[in-house]
Amino acid sequence: MLRHCPTCGRSSKDVRFIADFCESCVAGRLSGSVPGYADLLSCRGCGRLKTRSGFAKPDASSIAGVIAAQMRGKFSVRVLRVDRDTAIVEFSTAVDDCPVSFTRSIELRRAHETCTDCFRRSSGYYEAVVQLRGDPDSVRRTLTGLTRYVEKNDAFVSKVETLPYGVDAYTSDKLVTAAYLSSRGIKAGRSYTLYGMRHGKRLYRNIYSVRL
Ligand SMILES: [Zn+2]
Ligand SMILES: [Zn+2]
Repeated sequence: MLRHCPTCGRSSKDVRFIADFCESCVAGRLSGSVPGYADLLSCRGCGRLKTRSGFAKPDASSIAGVIAAQMRGKFSVRVLRVDRDTAIVEFSTAVDDCPVSFTRSIELRRAHETCTDCFRRSSGYYEAVVQLRGDPDSVRRTLTGLTRYVEKNDAFVSKVETLPYGVDAYTSDKLVTAAYLSSRGIKAGRSYTLYGMRHGKRLYRNIYSVRL
């Protein structure tokens, strides 16, 4: 049976219908229900974007995740293009089990804060000290390897102290530091210093003494 859309008059001969309306009127109505903006919060230090699962590289997929969350999960979201203030976004959903999608330009309202990593970096935070001693070439090589490894694992070296008999490297993450040492088969003496309490738990810094 031939039908006509009550809103625009188009005929079911020319366009797909979803319930009583043509697809483009359904998409138009949904498009009007979407806020024309999204709030993006980025770290002023590293530029990463705040998402539900922490700070992430700001790309089409992380921005799509933030926009989808702000639309309360009513749409799946694909970011087609993004510049500083605007994103071109494709929204998809289903109405009466029929897939509907539309494309809209969304204003990006940007704000900034400092992520924990950048805060820690700027305040010289450390959880572990690796005391490298012995042959100067081996010390230098191991320091380079350690620095690369911790940075690859979202941690950092906050300070390196050069001493007459080696170096002390201060690292921001004791688990990552321990993983580096064990992955390279480096044997280390361990000791601990108490540096504070959090939520009633004692916090320790790990000190690793390595003879190379
Ligand atoms: Zn219509
Ligand atoms: Zn940051």
